[in-house]
Amino acid sequence: MSQSLQSQLAALAGQDVGRIAFDEPLSQHSSWRIGGAAWLLLEPEGREQVARVQRFVREQRIPLVVIGRGTNLLFDDAGVHGVVMKIGEQMGDIRISGQKIIAGGGAWVPQLARLSMRAGLTGLEHTIGIPGTLGGLVMMNGGSQRKGIGENVTRVSIVDAEGATCRLSREDCAFSYRHSALQETGSIVVEVELCCPKGELAKVRSEMISDLRTRRRKFPRKQPNCGSVFLSTAEMHASVGPPGKIIEDAGLKGMRIGQAEVSQQHANFIVNLGGASSADVLTLIRHVRQKVRERIGFELDCEVCYVSPDGMLLPAHIKADKQLQQ
Ligand SMILES: Cc1cc2nc3c(=O)[nH]c(=O)nc-3n(C[C@H](O)[C@H](O)[C@H](O)COP(=O)(O)OP(=O)(O)OC[C@H]3O[C@@H](n4cnc5c(N)ncnc54)[C@H](O)[C@@H]3O)c2cc1C
Repeated sequence: MSQSLQSQLAALAGQDVGRIAFDEPLSQHSSWRIGGAAWLLLEPEGREQVARVQRFVREQRIPLVVIGRGTNLLFDDAGVHGVVMKIGEQMGDIRISGQKIIAGGGAWVPQLARLSMRAGLTGLEHTIGIPGTLGGLVMMNGGSQRKGIGENVTRVSIVDAEGATCRLSREDCAFSYRHSALQETGSIVVEVELCCPKGELAKVRSEMISDLRTRRRKFPRKQPNCGSVFLSTAEMHASVGPPGKIIEDAGLKGMRIGQAEVSQQHANFIVNLGGASSADVLTLIRHVRQKVRERIGFELDCEVCYVSPDGMLLPAHIKADKQLQQ
């Protein structure tokens, strides 16, 4: 690290920016348990602190990566040579009034789903088993059973790339399958307003229990993973089937590179057997794509994003292809 960057990071850490940690191992902030150190990790407690960090890194041209629970990210073994801002439990308040839910960007999604159920609301059943934050979910328009959180979003409060706070409508977010317009703008989600209609508590509860049971049966639970690695679109299902089945049919279940393995339980998951590197995962992704391409002529794209040491995020398959060229 250059001396000037070192003093810039020290100056940022000396301000009112929430919890700070230098040289923080990102493997502790990733559900894959992979990744080198962030030179500085910050956990803000409110939107003013988020805005302060955003303005500082912009003015000083320091790489910034925003994360939630790191359940959709592959950090590089070299870590992040800049600032990682974690929007987590410090910004995870959830308030419910009638059909309206207002929650912080760091709200824990399973808790949000549970509280909405207890308040007699429906609409968030499909999110009960998603182990991320609301900010991450909104950013990705995540969900399950062909649904996305965007369907229930009415307003999103963000800190924009210049450090200003603004409110966006659902239309502004332009939600589509596992995508929102927020991904292109460098916005940080600090608060989300959702509207959920009144539901039948017993029915909502039994749907949630059934979803969790299915996940427990189908998905690996004990080995660190990042959920589904490859995107699964409706068009893809109609033409070639779901990625898990395509990968399994290609005989790739159990394929291993280093300590990364295509899960024996569900082929759209890559599990860390212990000490896997980001290079192991990227190489495995490249092999899986190549075999599937050779077998059925279909290109699998990644849902999981790779985070480079200079703070860039890109779909992991793009990095996997680049890795070959390097
Ligand atoms: C076992 C398992 C099951 C899963 N099941 C599902 C599923 O059914 N459906 C599904 O959609 N996903 C699923 N996922 C993936 C993941 O949990 C979701 O994508 C989740 O929404 C990511 O939230 P996060 O807080 O972990 O975000 P991270 O992984 O930390 O970040 C994801 C993206 O969001 C951005 N981001 C995070 N927080 C903010 C914020 N506050 N403001 C701006 N940008 C932000 C990051 O920069 C990054 O681009 C699963 C993952 C696991 C491990």
